[in-house]
Amino acid sequence: MSAPVLHVAGLIRHFTQKKGFPNPVTITVRAVDGVSFDVAEGEAFGLVGESGCGKSTVARAALRLIEPDQGTVRFRDTDVRAARGPGLKALRRKLQMVFQDPYSSLNPRRRIAATLTEPMAVHGIMRGRAARERAGQLLEEVGLPPAALDRFPHEFSGGQRQRLGIARALSVEPELLVADEPVSALDVSVQAQVLVLLRDLQQRRGLSFLFVSHDLAVVRWFCSRLAVMYLGRIVEQGPVVEVFREPLHPYTRVLRDASPSPDPGLRAQLPRIEGEIPSAANPPPGCHFHARCPHVMPICRTQYPSFRDMGGGRQVACHLYDN
Ligand code: SF4
Repeated sequence: MSAPVLHVAGLIRHFTQKKGFPNPVTITVRAVDGVSFDVAEGEAFGLVGESGCGKSTVARAALRLIEPDQGTVRFRDTDVRAARGPGLKALRRKLQMVFQDPYSSLNPRRRIAATLTEPMAVHGIMRGRAARERAGQLLEEVGLPPAALDRFPHEFSGGQRQRLGIARALSVEPELLVADEPVSALDVSVQAQVLVLLRDLQQRRGLSFLFVSHDLAVVRWFCSRLAVMYLGRIVEQGPVVEVFREPLHPYTRVLRDASPSPDPGLRAQLPRIEGEIPSAANPPPGCHFHARCPHVMPICRTQYPSFRDMGGGRQVACHLYDN
């Protein structure tokens, strides 16, 4: 792989919470517990897992929307965690986020023209008539009429609002889009349209994507490589085609089983996922997946498996592959 556009290594983010009454105790939630991956130039890299696995925290920490406790985040040659002042502002232009809920990310009192032209002014790209003209072009690029510039967010459907959110992200000419569940709030038919738009933009603009989703089917369609997260850690990583053809980690296997597959025979051979995801405040010892794993062995209950390179760009953390 050529030099990555985004390099994340050893990322850790823990949160503390007070729990209990009348004598509350402070507990530590290990939301992200040592996550490493690279996003290559122009690729769509997927981060998948169940709700609460830490994938959205990774996305936000990569953009410095929250501060990680430890780890490295590099965008090209820039240390994202060390960036300050003008350097951080320049980074914010190159790294943009597309949010899950487009409505809450758009100011309901501002016309679309203001929403799209303000970031251009903030980053010194253009102002006034030129910015308005550019905003109209952006609307056309995301499949909306330029006349929408004078309307308010509530006048649009959910899918149209997500297109507006994408247009706003594009207004500053980013190089990497971090998309956090960008279609999960939309109807299935609208999901497909927005995904086609994102892929079209990726190809036309050469954009790189960090694509966060709980939906393996969506990641399978949109991404070329993926990492599967479970309880704050990556358990498997590799090219999407190979991971779907032959998942290595038992958790990836059950996730694949739970996602829509065109091959019913394939799904019938696979085990069903059992039990609830444990709390990140109190992860089980050993492999965090052991209480749900159909292949659990004694070592799994005491020792966390190391992340092994399996060749072909594939890695897995599971004692099934110990030598
Ligand atoms: Fe299952 Fe053990 Fe592998 Fe964990 S390490 S996924 S419990 S086989």
